[in-house]
Amino acid sequence: MVAGKPRRALPLAPSIDARISAKTERVHVLTGAVCNNNCIFCMEEDREGRKVLNSKTDDALVAKILADSAPCEELCFTSGEPTLNERLPRWARRARDAGVRRVSVMTNARALSYRRYARGLAKAGINRFYISIHGHTAKLHESLVRTPGAFDQTVAGIRNVAALIPYGIELHTSTVLTRRNLPHLRDIYRFLRRLGVQQVVFNVMQANGRANTHFERIFPPYSLIASEARRFIEGEPAPVMAFFVDIPLCTTTELPDFNRGFVEAYKHYEPDDGGDGGHDRRLPVMDRSEGGLVEVRRSDLDEAMRLKRAECGRCRYDSVCEGVWSNYLRRYGWGEMVPVP
Ligand code: SF4
Repeated sequence: MVAGKPRRALPLAPSIDARISAKTERVHVLTGAVCNNNCIFCMEEDREGRKVLNSKTDDALVAKILADSAPCEELCFTSGEPTLNERLPRWARRARDAGVRRVSVMTNARALSYRRYARGLAKAGINRFYISIHGHTAKLHESLVRTPGAFDQTVAGIRNVAALIPYGIELHTSTVLTRRNLPHLRDIYRFLRRLGVQQVVFNVMQANGRANTHFERIFPPYSLIASEARRFIEGEPAPVMAFFVDIPLCTTTELPDFNRGFVEAYKHYEPDDGGDGGHDRRLPVMDRSEGGLVEVRRSDLDEAMRLKRAECGRCRYDSVCEGVWSNYLRRYGWGEMVPVP
């Protein structure tokens, strides 16, 4: 609990370490060969590689993923911009018909500004939307996604999905934290909650792709993020439905446990092309291929780029902590990461 003024009771929830230990694995289907935004922090800097890889997702691959991963708790369409793929509704329908309980999509929601399309996706089976929005004004959002006109469409998309909440649709947003939007946490949160967003997730950047290229301009230190987060949460009536994810837990001990989130574990499948596909082969890929599919787990990809040090062995979060991005440590060092007794 944050020290200082008394706060109203928060909903009961297990501690952050218990929640991380209990997390389930999500299956990702890579569906967007291209994107209609141009985010300054995009992790997928290798556009050609993404295009090659994601273009391989077809009806047969989706059917195989569904067969191989059943029963899965959540299947999420992601990578690039999934709504630009005209097969998305068809694949959502297949996932729903296969019995997947939660069928989700990560999207910038610009296409969802067309109400009919938004309703069509929900009708096809998508029952949770993760919508990326990075500011509460067109100026702030579009300075980060570098696409004029994107803000109005994304906001219209959020409104259209919010109108579906009474029919059981879930609406979460994802805001990537940068030096530009960090001073506006409260404004962003209030803006999104007024639109009807159920969970406002603030994602700390992953220090790779463009986030690494533009690191010095856009990547705030973890300690600054934590102090801004604390200031914002202290000023809001509880429960604050905002969650800070992908930040080492040792830097967020001053935040209410309720507001400390985590990145879901996930895996995706790629066609086993013998190694000449779009996937970055510098990273370890676990080959458990059967019938031409390769399974790739997020943890396998991240392990190559995250580090821990000997002192982490004394930290209460050691068993659930994934480590710190090596690209972050190269700039800011280990000073902020103090083991939690
Ligand atoms: S294990 Fe290390 S990096 Fe992770 S939370 Fe603890 S001190 Fe921080």
